[in-house]
Amino acid sequence: MSKFWSPFVKDLVPYVPGEQPKLNKLVKLNTNENPYGPSPRAIAAMQAEVNDNLRLYPDPNGERLKQAVADYYGVQPNQVFVGNGSDEVLAHAFHGLFQHGRPLLFPDVTYSFYPVYCGLYGIAYETVALNAQFQIEVADYDRPNGGIIFPNPNAPTGCLLALDAIERLLQANPDSVVLVDEAYVDFGGESAIALVDRYPNLLVAQTLSKSRSLAGLRVGLAVGHPDLIEALERIKNSFNSYPLDRIAIAGAAAAFEDREYFQETCRQVIASREAVVDALRALGFDVLPSAANFIFARHPQRDAALIAAGLREQGVIVRHFKHPRIEQFLRITIGTPEQNRALLDALAR
Ligand SMILES: *Cc1c(COP(=O)(O)O)cnc(C)c1O
Repeated sequence: MSKFWSPFVKDLVPYVPGEQPKLNKLVKLNTNENPYGPSPRAIAAMQAEVNDNLRLYPDPNGERLKQAVADYYGVQPNQVFVGNGSDEVLAHAFHGLFQHGRPLLFPDVTYSFYPVYCGLYGIAYETVALNAQFQIEVADYDRPNGGIIFPNPNAPTGCLLALDAIERLLQANPDSVVLVDEAYVDFGGESAIALVDRYPNLLVAQTLSKSRSLAGLRVGLAVGHPDLIEALERIKNSFNSYPLDRIAIAGAAAAFEDREYFQETCRQVIASREAVVDALRALGFDVLPSAANFIFARHPQRDAALIAAGLREQGVIVRHFKHPRIEQFLRITIGTPEQNRALLDALAR
């Protein structure tokens, strides 16, 4: 604490990201990065941007990327917002769409950045308990609210909510924005972007950090009604005109254009996930059904914190949350087949 701080800073509770270890030899299965590299076409596009033009500011609107996303999803560019990672896109949505005096609703077990943004922007919130199977029950969201947000698939559970349930939520809450955070949707879900033309209260956020393997580039996006996008643009243009640099715009657009590489790497991650789930169950773990690039598992006889510490000693890092309801679970990112083998061998030991 310092006398120079604005008063509200002392009460901020920041998000704690997963560890990024300096050691390269660790098997890193703790932050849901993609085990495969970015599209070679994306890398080539980024390399081509490293030239004298870097003296010039980038396109403040990232039009080239908006067009690539619009083409991919069959929407209009004015239905697309792009930002510096989906965390920034989510922050602008909290700031611009959730400050209505009524509480924001999100699951009790979910992405731990949501309460942090509520703290930053002074938004009241209520958590809604997942059911005993750790699934979202849309009927439980039937209460006064100033907005609803959840990841789909949910994080850190990996569990998917079907599109018809999302549609029921949208219909039951016509006066609230429902924000579906689809960070992991490409690993087994169906995007709610298919619904944006029918529901002006739907905003869908996505990231290039997971399924498109560009966590280091920092690119995220949102798709929704142009009026919702306009609110995000107003916030963005009151904060930072150039959230995406020239390299990021070029690389992200090329990543969306390279459908083949994207589909093939997603397919491999999904196949590995199914193999890891089977192997963990054979070792006695309970594993929640996952539609993501990670799994959420507990062992009925072994303490999760001890398992995580034992894995770490063997050079494998996974994520453990000391939160109520989930303190006996481990969240494990799906790696390459070699990394998954190292995980399973270490667990068996
Ligand atoms: C990883 C993740 C994000 C953030 O993605 P970035 O684009 O890297 O900021 C957002 N939401 C959820 C649920 C995530 O898991």
